[in-house]
Amino acid sequence: MSEARVGLVIEDDQDIRELVRAVLTQAGFDVTVAGSGSEGVKAARALNPDVITLDLGLPDIDGFEVSRQIREFSDAYIVMLTARAEELDTLIGLESGADDYLTKPFRPRELRARIAAMMRRPRALPDAGESAPPVSDRPVDAGTGSGNGHYSHNGLDLNYASRSVAVDGQELNLTRTEFELLYALLEAGRTVRTKSDLVRRLRYEDYDVGSYISEADERSVEVHMGNLRKKLGDSPQQPRWLQTVRGVGYRLAPGGR
Ligand code: CA
Repeated sequence: MSEARVGLVIEDDQDIRELVRAVLTQAGFDVTVAGSGSEGVKAARALNPDVITLDLGLPDIDGFEVSRQIREFSDAYIVMLTARAEELDTLIGLESGADDYLTKPFRPRELRARIAAMMRRPRALPDAGESAPPVSDRPVDAGTGSGNGHYSHNGLDLNYASRSVAVDGQELNLTRTEFELLYALLEAGRTVRTKSDLVRRLRYEDYDVGSYISEADERSVEVHMGNLRKKLGDSPQQPRWLQTVRGVGYRLAPGGR
């Protein structure tokens, strides 16, 4: 019934490339590999992959730039592989368009878990570059979705089915991760979502499964939240939407603003 999913591995280190290829192949993907950034962009354009793993340090163009170029025509799920955990903040802050980050060395099991989480995510983002998002006929696969998947709060409108967000009538362009975080908070209302909750949400796990959450995972939620705040034009001190609960997590700011 369903055609094989396509994976693309962009990595110049042969050992890692073969390791990642093996993980993706085991997960049921048709895998293509590329050893440089420009080859990777070309392959992404030709193959329209569902998932791309992308090495940050490539011999020609770096991973940020590769990701940006791919994002111009693809909404593939991009996992960036980085050499050091400390690079993580910089990475996410640069808004390269990657969906997830993994620090080397990583265990194959860890990559498998990320890929499995990715496969649970709905793929309903409008194609990059299209002005009008296509209306999806498919039922919303939101797992914990409530009602019709439409939320309005303090001038913000989120529609899950069309994956669209507008503030005071102005359409916003959010990454998949930012969208999911915003959706999770709107859905929870005034209930606090801990950072671990949100990490699990991004993996499409239940909130209480007890899977391992690293400090880097939580930190990455903080940075994505910071980017989301910037895009919304929200203030951490006087939040209209995203209220930080110190040392715990986030919740929706009260209504009426
Ligand atoms: Ca490399």
